[in-house]
Amino acid sequence: MKMQSLGAACTVTGSMHLLTLDAAAGGTRQLLIDCGLFQGGEELEARNREPFPFDPRDLDAVILTHAHLDHVGRLPILIKQGFRGPVYCTAPTAALAETVLLDSARLQVEGYRQDVRRARRQGREDEVPPPLYEEEDVHRTVALLRPQLEFGETLRVADISITPQRAGHILGSAYLLIESAQGRLIMSGDLGNRESGLQLDFTPPPEADAVVIETTYANRTHRVWADTLTEFRDALRESVRLGGKILIPSFAIERAQTILYTLKELMDSGEVPRIPVFLDSPMAARATHEYFEFGDELIPPVRQALQNGEDPFRPSTLHVVPTAAESQRINRYDGPAIILAGNGMMTGGRIQHHLKHHLWKPSTSLVIVSYQSPSSLGGRIVAGTDSVRIMGEDVAVRAKVHTIGGFSAHADQDDLLAFLSTAGKPHVWLVHGEVEVMEAFVPVLEQEGMKGDIVPDRETVDLTGPGFPQGRPPGLPTPEGRDTQRSAGGE
Ligand SMILES: [Zn+2]
Repeated sequence: MKMQSLGAACTVTGSMHLLTLDAAAGGTRQLLIDCGLFQGGEELEARNREPFPFDPRDLDAVILTHAHLDHVGRLPILIKQGFRGPVYCTAPTAALAETVLLDSARLQVEGYRQDVRRARRQGREDEVPPPLYEEEDVHRTVALLRPQLEFGETLRVADISITPQRAGHILGSAYLLIESAQGRLIMSGDLGNRESGLQLDFTPPPEADAVVIETTYANRTHRVWADTLTEFRDALRESVRLGGKILIPSFAIERAQTILYTLKELMDSGEVPRIPVFLDSPMAARATHEYFEFGDELIPPVRQALQNGEDPFRPSTLHVVPTAAESQRINRYDGPAIILAGNGMMTGGRIQHHLKHHLWKPSTSLVIVSYQSPSSLGGRIVAGTDSVRIMGEDVAVRAKVHTIGGFSAHADQDDLLAFLSTAGKPHVWLVHGEVEVMEAFVPVLEQEGMKGDIVPDRETVDLTGPGFPQGRPPGLPTPEGRDTQRSAGGE
């Protein structure tokens, strides 16, 4: 059972794993698990333009674990290069993937146009690479999605059995049990935080020979959920007292819906005053529609609300802001209001003009509910800088900044160990994490009686073979020699 990781190996972004299995009738079968985009800086993003080290036409199938861009974002490139399907996923993943990929195509094209304008002034417009893909390519991709994965139901791809189970990370997220004559393998995808808002817990996995597991937060423990809610409530109350705008930068999938659901709860119970809430992200609005449509997949209070004919994601004061012009108009609205906008790290999107208009006012509150990479605009604000450059202007940071850390949709160390506890004593292969985080997790696994190995970038490993000494592949860069900045793709 061979695997070559072409993303999310020694990093948290660009998830893509090529599995090669022997077929019963001779020859091999190839499955691609996820096909994600690299995000978070030029060096990583350049990898999106690297050719695939396999012929896309040779794949038997692609299987998506969930719809985050760092798990689906290179799919249109695969299709441009000759892959003709099928792409298996759950129904919610198919719905969300369309939204995610259309947004990605739009950003690709906008970025390209901006680069061309800049390059033209230097007479170098011919050197600008074309967008990775455009809307047309996304439509061709969506046509190949087969939303046939159902939790607990086995799908056959030739002589391989694939059984998806609930991963509890975002709507529709699955991990996969892959069974063939060579053994039983679990591909974790991204696993959920058992303490977080909307998702049911992951289903305990069955015994397996090997587990390929994400390790985004394998070195830490999240705050207790009840404490996170209290912290969020107190930040909102204090912000309302200041009387200005309350800016909440948010990722469009899962985080935005968790915040909307929590705001509704806090306002309905009278714990936070009913001030206007502006949802200023078309992508989050579309994703919220899917959360409503597939609400049966979520925690019991959400299902109950839906059965009662309510919308659990709609605080009574919610305004969904469709156009950019209307987004500008919010700034003329007087009095306290909550503005929920993307993107989550404030590096682009509508949150930027809200920051420009309000960050310099002492009455403004900035409530941070998402991870901020140190190099991002949000990261610099969290670090305490007193001025930032936004849309070509220097803006003073006088707003009150609240950082709420407990909203993560990823498993922490306790969650990961709980997940592995029912899998027998499998050989554990570590992906989707920074090297230092994985190095800290290997001895923890050993204490639990499991062999842990870090999956090397782009090299083929034998998942049921002996692995590496001390869990560390030869040639792994030393801590001094690598860029340890976490990238944006870790959602
Ligand atoms: Zn994810």
